[in-house]
Amino acid sequence: MKKIFVILICFLFSSVAFAQDNNGFFGRMKERFVVHDTVYIYIHDNDTIVNVEDDEEDDEEEDEEFSEGIAIPVDTLSTADRYCKVVLFDNGTWLYYNIEKPDIPDSLSYDHWDTQTVHSYRDVALKDLPDEVVLRLVDSVHRWCIPYSGPVTSQFKIRWHRPHRGVDIALHIGDVVYAAFDGIVRVALPTSMTGGYGNVLVIRHANGLETYYGHLSKYIVKSGDVVKAGEAIGYGGSTGRSTGPHLHFETRYMGQSFDPERIFDFENGTLRDEVFVLKKHYFSINSHYGQTDQQSLNASKKTPQDNSTKSKKAYYTVKKGDTLGKIAQKHGTTIKKLCQLNGIRQNKVLQIGQRLRVK
Ligand SMILES: [Zn+2]
Repeated sequence: MKKIFVILICFLFSSVAFAQDNNGFFGRMKERFVVHDTVYIYIHDNDTIVNVEDDEEDDEEEDEEFSEGIAIPVDTLSTADRYCKVVLFDNGTWLYYNIEKPDIPDSLSYDHWDTQTVHSYRDVALKDLPDEVVLRLVDSVHRWCIPYSGPVTSQFKIRWHRPHRGVDIALHIGDVVYAAFDGIVRVALPTSMTGGYGNVLVIRHANGLETYYGHLSKYIVKSGDVVKAGEAIGYGGSTGRSTGPHLHFETRYMGQSFDPERIFDFENGTLRDEVFVLKKHYFSINSHYGQTDQQSLNASKKTPQDNSTKSKKAYYTVKKGDTLGKIAQKHGTTIKKLCQLNGIRQNKVLQIGQRLRVK
């Protein structure tokens, strides 16, 4: 029917929508990403794409205004440039659409940048972290998105005598998981390399935060990719140490984890605040959202911190000519143990200057 120019597009896997304004492709769409909503768009004959959110009464009015030469977008294709998409129309025409590239400094990948190890800050001790750090989570350029919205089914706490260093949010296998903030993908590793985390992504953000996304059925970004908040990065699953489909989501600063519920209200799909003051005692597994700072401080003193930098642990910096075998021998351990400690494979190519945990 010629007069149909209002179409309903629900991109189940990409949640992509178009906007004509200067904010660009994703700029105005962020909220839509957050609610994973259905997107209505109008198309008319001069390739102008106008986003509207109105309901059906308005459809009638618009019907009078446009009638002929309507092109309906039928598909969106990726190009070699991840910031450029091709939109295909049903009349055989197409156009390029540029996505605003996130503004991420290169320097973000200079420090502790290891794409083969989930935890790259193992040599940073908790005692060396500042007592307090102020993190700006969003500003006029950098936005946010709930990675997956739903009730938290398991909190940041000691669980089954082990620290559970993130939150679990139940989902269905295949549900889209989104980048929480703009950043660079540091780790995109399969279950065989990460054990408990399953297929996991770690994204580093401009303020120094890292977000972890575990148990994915599949990830669709790779190490080094710059991603925007709200960009689809993978699909929910139950890989690794998991009893059912869920997203295991962690927030870490310099390798130390704290309760992600301090940043997001997952159930309501909101950001708690644009600025987050991260205090050192928040890194305790006994510290969680909802406590006063005094309660958090007291709780953090109750039991010894279970963090990944106990003094018993030892590290070694790889030198020229080293092999895993030589390093294992030197430290009275085995190649297998080294691989377990560092989450690496036996055939991993060692780099001079790389730090390996040996105890
Ligand atoms: Zn979990």
